[in-house]
Amino acid sequence: MTNRLVLVINGGSSSIKVALRRENTAGAIFEAIAERLNTAQARLSTSDGLEQDLSGADHLAALDALLPLVDRHLDQPLSAVGHRVVHGGERFTSARLIDDEVIAGIQANAPLAPLHNPANLTGIRAALKLLPGTPQFAVFDTAFHQSMPPHAFRYALPDELYAVHGVRRYGFHGTSHKYVSDEASVLCGKERGAGAWLTAHLGNGCSSCAVLDGRSMDTSMGLTPLEGLVMGTRSGDVDPNLHAHLARTLGWDLPRIEHLLNRESGLLGLSGLSNDMRELEQARADGHSGAQLAIEVFCYRLARSLAGLAVALPRIDGLIFTGGIGENSALTRALTVKHLAVMGLRLDPDSNSLLPRGEAGRVEAQGSPAILVIPTDEERQIADESLALLDTQPRSQMA
Ligand code: AMP
Repeated sequence: MTNRLVLVINGGSSSIKVALRRENTAGAIFEAIAERLNTAQARLSTSDGLEQDLSGADHLAALDALLPLVDRHLDQPLSAVGHRVVHGGERFTSARLIDDEVIAGIQANAPLAPLHNPANLTGIRAALKLLPGTPQFAVFDTAFHQSMPPHAFRYALPDELYAVHGVRRYGFHGTSHKYVSDEASVLCGKERGAGAWLTAHLGNGCSSCAVLDGRSMDTSMGLTPLEGLVMGTRSGDVDPNLHAHLARTLGWDLPRIEHLLNRESGLLGLSGLSNDMRELEQARADGHSGAQLAIEVFCYRLARSLAGLAVALPRIDGLIFTGGIGENSALTRALTVKHLAVMGLRLDPDSNSLLPRGEAGRVEAQGSPAILVIPTDEERQIADESLALLDTQPRSQMA
């Protein structure tokens, strides 16, 4: 059977987002989001322009309201539901058919992602209740990085913290790094998945990754999505003793410091203006020194991370930019690649600045390893992985 339909569900703490995808087809057929759930302001909005008041709705009620809207776009029954799940820990190294054991596993990983995993589970439980006859799959943000070797995933901490408490580097954005590196191989005329790639996923959250023949070898995020690159409001790497320093000198407690590092830092903190790269580029052009500094630090730290990740690869076939910033900001790409001359990477300024929005393309200068801009599509990756897994299931389990 070809061109099957998959509903991709992303359950957040106060929202639930659905996208109807057709196999082997770019773009969503239909998308909808219910936000501010469990409040009087709960609302639903859809890609065909519908806005609906959902006052007081929880995840189950919201999905119950969303599914009839999805139904209108079905020309065949849904073949699968694919759920985005943030943390799979070490237990989940690939997508899984959701059953009681998988639900318990997601629950068991909740201490590693206390905001996200319980929210993802709420979406899963609602969908199991409302779509009981459709096979449902969990696709984990962390699973792609389970191929990292111990020298990349271990912190230099006493063994017990890893062995008993799971303190290690996990990495996130796995579906995006996998999707764009697979696409890059095709764009460069290789077999799908082949090649040695550095990937930079630059959205509100940012991470970089070294991918060898379809396997993550190392990545910039760690135990939590705070490690690594400068992000919209997240600091990325800081001195690990910063917590103690702030506690001692300013008397700050843990919640205050966590808020600082997750919500008040990154591009926002550095610029004193905004976490939004578009706004910062405009302000930089108008001479705003904070915006200029924020963009420079963002790009320099990104380049430093990419150069560091290069040691995980035997060679570099190419560098890939993706995410809202990576896909759209020619300035970010130019400033970052400028710092990577030591690796022979050079941009072609015209290709870089003239690449049409939303299109994949190559922007390197002659003689440089490939530099690619590839729009990410995490929902497509989730749909593809769900269908690939569906095809391996014994029929009896699918009844
Ligand atoms: P995402 O989380 O992937 O949607 O990415 C959000 C980030 O992409 C924000 O910082 C946006 O400002 C940035 N972004 C989106 N469009 C552009 C653009 N045309 N130029 C620069 N940054 C952009």
